Amino acid sequence: MTDNLCQDVRNQVMFYIDNELSEDKRIWLAGHINKCADCQEYICHEQDLKTKICEKLKDNYICRCDVQRLKESIKGKINEILSF
Ligand SMILES: [Zn+2]
Repeated sequence: MTDNLCQDVRNQVMFYIDNELSEDKRIWLAGHINKCADCQEYICHEQDLKTKICEKLKDNYICRCDVQRLKESIKGKINEILSF
């Protein structure tokens, strides 16, 4: 199910990855992705995003990995942000 909130999140994921969002927005977006399986799927299936995430994480291994591993690394990043 895709609602307006999900659409809003997806429109901003690029800015999130590029660190162009305010702290409030980052936490909001991370919080949503953390509990929305649909948006996690969306991110994992965006090849462009995947490449960008890999660049950000500076971990070439993740670029070659399967979706499950990418998801885990995204979750790790999200948890880092949310734990502040
Ligand atoms: Zn969502």
